[in-house]
Amino acid sequence: MINTILPKSTIGIIGGGQLGRMLAMSAKEMGYKIAMLDPSEDCCGRHFADIFINSAFNDLKNLEELCKLSDVITFEFENIDVKALKILEKKYNFVQSAKSLEITQNRLSEKEFARSLDIPTVNYYKWNDENIVLKDKYLMKTLTLGYDGKGQKIIESNDEIEENTIIEELLDLDKEISVVAVKDRESIEIVAVVENEHRNNILFRSNIPANITEEIEEEAIKYTKRILDNFDYYGVMTVEYFLSNNKLIFNEIAPRVHNSGHITQQSANKSQFRAHIEAICGLTVGKIYNKETTMYNILGQNEDYFIDLIQRKKGYLHLYEKEARHNRKIGHMNFEGTVYLEDIID
Ligand code: ADP
Ligand code: MG
Repeated sequence: MINTILPKSTIGIIGGGQLGRMLAMSAKEMGYKIAMLDPSEDCCGRHFADIFINSAFNDLKNLEELCKLSDVITFEFENIDVKALKILEKKYNFVQSAKSLEITQNRLSEKEFARSLDIPTVNYYKWNDENIVLKDKYLMKTLTLGYDGKGQKIIESNDEIEENTIIEELLDLDKEISVVAVKDRESIEIVAVVENEHRNNILFRSNIPANITEEIEEEAIKYTKRILDNFDYYGVMTVEYFLSNNKLIFNEIAPRVHNSGHITQQSANKSQFRAHIEAICGLTVGKIYNKETTMYNILGQNEDYFIDLIQRKKGYLHLYEKEARHNRKIGHMNFEGTVYLEDIID
């Protein structure tokens, strides 16, 4: 059973980047207080935190300090020390189990988990598999800590294999989609099914509705529900899939709100952020509906382009108050309908 945590209580958020910031914004709209922990003193979430603890993510003492201040604790970032979490979850109100983090923070264990649930994944090898003979192009990924394509490299032979990696077959991708879902005290609801286009491995554009067949959409929803059903977990969880030769293939799980879900701030009757806060507080999220919408990520080098655009085009600008460094995500912009901005400078 999940406890009901009502407004005016304190929600602890581990991580103060843009996801922590937008979670805090949604929670504060509802009248909750926020305690936040982040290693960066000037992280962008801090503006919406009532209490801020400046600490490394693996500092057990400071994590416990956050827990003591919080009626429920969540995170924007899955790479938290699982050992520390396993200790803390015995004493404090974590509703996303350390076990679910342990599975999802490792690319091999999350793929093994998907396979154990009969969900198709890409063919892969573990780096120390004695039977590997590479004779084509493969994608090598670090087992842990990668994001936005970081820690990934295309390799073609056995000598290029590095330790602690997974070596995946390089697929021809027709499309990429994500399913943002939420598990609350009563049920699992789909927040959105989103089509995603990446450029340089960074999410460039998201669209609702995803241009996929009804069968593929149903299959993706079925797998996502199956995953959530098998986790001791409340809140938003996102599953990324590939479409390759018309086949749906599991890619990875994010046990949290997700970049592709930013579109729901305008597409949905309830955003992923509010849905997550409600679910972890033991409330009922209810049915979520979406309308046709487009989202673009704003990278540091494109800040001026979007600030100029907001003056000329209808849209919903979200900036995170982050320094505009090259290829750093500093915001996103949502548009009603399907909107193509092909002239964004890289
Ligand atoms: P992360 O999002 O954690 O950086 P992903 O595994 O999602 O890592 O990879 C990032 C992107 O790289 C994917 O969205 C996809 O565009 C591409 N990619 C990942 N794995 C494969 C693969 N096996 N074959 C082809 N493209 C891939
Ligand atoms: Mg990914």
